Amino acid sequence: MRFEDLVGQDHVARTLGNAIQTGRVAHAFLFTGVRGVGKTTSARILAKALNCLGDPATTPPGTDPGPTVTPCLKCTACLEIAAGAQARSSYHQGGPRRPRAGPADLLRAEPP
Ligand SMILES: [Zn+2]
Repeated sequence: MRFEDLVGQDHVARTLGNAIQTGRVAHAFLFTGVRGVGKTTSARILAKALNCLGDPATTPPGTDPGPTVTPCLKCTACLEIAAGAQARSSYHQGGPRRPRAGPADLLRAEPP
């Protein structure tokens, strides 16, 4: 899934895409909203855009294409993020039934 696949979140896709294209990516993003609006999906698309290694069939080994608004969806990073197993991206889901985490808890939860 890419930014153009986000339904009803054009403003999110446009904002994140512009940030990547201009090289002005913030050090953290906070996605908020009611259940089902696409917070996790948006975060995963952003993670793919920032971590994509390029299509293995067309990207020379050892090169880093850098952040892209059109992640390849085929490289190791894209596949791991899609599966929810990418170590370089993490998200913390909250909600009324989840215990609230403070900054110290979030730092402890970050991968090494
Ligand atoms: Zn990729």
